[in-house]
This record gives sequence, C-alpha cells and structure tokens, in this order.
Amino acid sequence: MKVSIVFSVYNEQTNLPLIWEDLQNYNENLNHSFELIWVNDGSEDNSLKILQDIAENNEHSKFENIIVNFSKNFGHEAAMIAGIDHSTGDCVICMDADRQHPVAEITNMISRFHEGFDIVNMVRSNAPQESGLFYGLLNMLSEQKFEKNASDFFLISGQVASVLKESYRERNRFLRGYVQSMGFRTCHLEYNSPDRVHGNSKYSNKKLFRLAGIAIFSFSNKPLRIVLWVSLIFILFSAILGFYSLYIFFFGEKPPSGYTTQILFMAICFAILFFLLGIQSIYFSKSIEEIRSRPIYIVKEIIKQTG
Ligand code: UDP
Ligand code: MG
Repeated sequence: MKVSIVFSVYNEQTNLPLIWEDLQNYNENLNHSFELIWVNDGSEDNSLKILQDIAENNEHSKFENIIVNFSKNFGHEAAMIAGIDHSTGDCVICMDADRQHPVAEITNMISRFHEGFDIVNMVRSNAPQESGLFYGLLNMLSEQKFEKNASDFFLISGQVASVLKESYRERNRFLRGYVQSMGFRTCHLEYNSPDRVHGNSKYSNKKLFRLAGIAIFSFSNKPLRIVLWVSLIFILFSAILGFYSLYIFFFGEKPPSGYTTQILFMAICFAILFFLLGIQSIYFSKSIEEIRSRPIYIVKEIIKQTG
C-alpha cells in the first residue's frame, strides 16, 4: 500500500530539516511506502533548496520525495489541492510543514483508513478560542454543519482524492469544508497541536476573516435569504408609516412637521439598501471569479527524487 503525504510549504526553512528528521524517526507502518509531496508555495527563503537537498540525499527506501514548485505564492488552500492533484497513493494525508501536525498521528490515521473510513478529520483538542468563534459563526450562517475545530490535517481515501481532482474546483475554496460535506464514511480523531516553534504563522486575522467569508458565501445562500427577510420587514415598516401619514393628512388635527420622520426614514432606507446591495455584490463578484476560471495554481516545475 502507498500513502501520499502532502505538505504545504511557505517559508519553512527552519522547520523542514526538523520535520524531515521526524519522518525519518517515524518507523511505524513501514510496511507501507510513502510518497511525500512537498508543495513549495512560492517561498522566499531557502525552503526550495532544502527540499531539493532532502530529495537528493534521501536514503530511506520507503520514502519517495516529490517537490511541486509553484510559480508564486497561491496560498495554503491551493497548495493542498495541488498536492492532492499530484498524489498517487491509496490514501492521501494533508498536513502542515511547521510541525504543528505531529507525524506520530499518521499511524492512527492510517489504522482508521484500514478500518474502512474514507475520511479521517483531525480535530484539535487544544484549539484557540477564535477557532470556536469562527466555526460558531460559520455554522450559524451555513446550511452545512461543520465539525468544530477541524483543521487542515486530514486523511482521505484515494477515491475521495479522485473526486477532489475532478470536482470542487472552485476559485474560492475551503477544502476542509468540502472534505466534511462529501459524505463517505467519515470519522474524527483528536490530536494535540504543539505551538509553532520556528517561523511565523502566515494566517493573519485578516486571512482568517477572508476564509470565513469564503466559507459562508460559498457554502450558503442564507445571507441572500436574510436579505429577503430584512426587506420584508422593511416593507411592513414603510407601509405602517405610509398609512399613518395618510391618516394624519386626512383626519389629523394639524399635520406634524414631518422633518424627523423623513430624515429617519431616508437614513434607515439607504442604510438597508446599501447593505443589501453589498451582500449581493459579494455573491456577484464570487460568481465572476468562478466564470473567469483562472488557474487555482501554476506549477513551475516538478522535481522528482532520482533513485
Ligand atoms: N502555507 C502555505 N501557503 C501560504 C501560507 C501558509 O503553503 O500562503 C503553509 C505553511 O507553510 C504551513 C501551513 O500552510 O505549512 C499552515 O500555515 P500556518 O502555520 O501559517 O497557519 P496556522 O497553523 O497558523 O493556521
Ligand atoms: Mg501552523
């Protein structure tokens, strides 16, 4: 049996030699062969050089190294997809190259696969609070319910990988979301994620926010329906105001000056109008991005280990 492991690499020069050491010390499941796919996502440091060294000097016969070198930085999601696209194993494991996804967990994941599970989601038992908030918001706004604290650490069977190679090719991606929404026999395993020791996290809050946006707007049409409800409430409000004004006009003792009413009405009206327009524009811009169908990633070269 062959196991593919996809590593997304962006400026991980200090972590790469360490994770390679972890892999070499990993001596369980060695009746399987491992295809290590290192996706270099436009690193500006020495990551590529280090990966080439690893591939050239590999003496471990159970490991085969493949480097997929991008033409520039396309982001973590694109890197994972590229890794899956280039995988040929009976199952595929996606993990980070910063040692926050422990190599030791691979054994448990593979045994779940042998038990017949097609998807093994790794759930962080020590997830930070923002993560719970992120999934809370996502589950509130989306039809699809997501596993809280799921990570980009998962195993998929070759069959699931081939579905991902063919479908789910959207530009606005949320891979861990697709993996959770595809059906198949799924299970989850808890793991403890150590803190990042070397290098910096590339997921700034801005990026997380963007990912939340993608997750909400590409998994759900709820915001559009909320828009409809808001406008219905607003129509009701306008009707009441209209009838009231007419009533005052015909039967009132003296017509009110109406200034405050008008200002308030206009202000609320415009605020809601622009809000609705904003939500629709987001869906519109996402559709345009999909229609353009630009490449998800561009591979500059594939470096395969010789021998
Ligand atoms: N990564 C990537 N492209 C990027 C940003 C990150 O391939 O544009 C990789 C990074 O090298 C790491 C993984 O994705 O292996 C997760 O990134 P990071 O550790 O920054 O995220 P966090 O663990 O903080 O969520
Ligand atoms: Mg990390």
